[in-house]
Amino acid sequence: MKGRVVVCKEYGKPFDIEEYEVPEPEPGAVLLRMTQAGICGSDLHVWRGDQVNVPLPPTGRAMGHEGTGVVEALGAGVTADTVGTPIQEGDRIVYSAVFPCYHCHLCLRGDTNWCVNRNYAAAGVYPYFTGTYADFLYLPPRHPLFRVPDELPDDLLGPVNCAMGTVTTGLLRAGLREGQYVVIQGAGGLGLNATAMAKDMGADRVIVLDRLENRLELAEEFGADYTINIEEYNTPETRVRRVWELTKGRGADVVMELVGRAELLAEGIDMLSNGGAFVEIGDIVRGREVSIDPSTLLRGKSILGSLMYRPSLLPTLLDFLVKNQNKLPFHKIVSHKFPLAEVNEAFVQAEWNQRQTPITRAVLVP
Ligand SMILES: [Zn+2]
Ligand SMILES: [Zn+2]
Repeated sequence: MKGRVVVCKEYGKPFDIEEYEVPEPEPGAVLLRMTQAGICGSDLHVWRGDQVNVPLPPTGRAMGHEGTGVVEALGAGVTADTVGTPIQEGDRIVYSAVFPCYHCHLCLRGDTNWCVNRNYAAAGVYPYFTGTYADFLYLPPRHPLFRVPDELPDDLLGPVNCAMGTVTTGLLRAGLREGQYVVIQGAGGLGLNATAMAKDMGADRVIVLDRLENRLELAEEFGADYTINIEEYNTPETRVRRVWELTKGRGADVVMELVGRAELLAEGIDMLSNGGAFVEIGDIVRGREVSIDPSTLLRGKSILGSLMYRPSLLPTLLDFLVKNQNKLPFHKIVSHKFPLAEVNEAFVQAEWNQRQTPITRAVLVP
């Protein structure tokens, strides 16, 4: 049996779709049949060609990291998921999208999301199905995976192992506490999840910025107390002033960058109250620079980077969805679906850089 894999051979060019023999899972491994794979902002960076400073594997990169699937085949000895829930063929699975080495000093202390040996998934290398834009995904032995509770509909599952895990970890790292003020820069898949999570963690005010009105309206449905359209507040100065007004002249306790623009760091620091934390998540592009005045940090402001999550977070997120699925419009985050074969068209339509798009999160469906 063969399956398709979407490969980036060259930055800024359409992706290729390649076919590979589907491997039998080795003992302890699990082969998933993908049911949904999200187009994350970081995938758009790769597609757009923002990542030219990061060399591609010679065979190309197997694309996609966010997604969910069902068990296609279990390797010998696998009878349960990571927390002991029995699994069998056809069960829906959310798995950790981090594939660490488990041997570096960061993996050894549990920070697998900061593994120093993580690389782009190279195309054409066994077990071939190492990206989520594919018919299958190969989970190696002992890879963290979790059976999805029956009460959750399929459409809620795609963003759990990237968007939701990543922003939740960012809020936890920022030390968000009840009654605090949070600013979310960007209301895409990451920002909507961050809004829901910040409110659930007790934020008193969540203020969301974006240029797309449809996304800002959705942010309000997820609990945003205020939104700022950057087409209306179209300079950093007016946006900073607006945040200070909306935080009763205190400034924000947490500002989270989920857009991927270096200049938002400087803008975000100016939005912070003394003691506040700026969380950098969106700007994964290497080589960009921004200038800041270090003296503005002295009264306890901090800048934190955050990437992905520890796998132990995933069962908690599934529980969070079970509790909140009828209260919050999670089913609206995934706004568009495209067949895997139309991956290039999906990227054209999902692009938000310097343009309007009705898409909040697009997913590919094999
Ligand atoms: Zn992602
Ligand atoms: Zn490692």
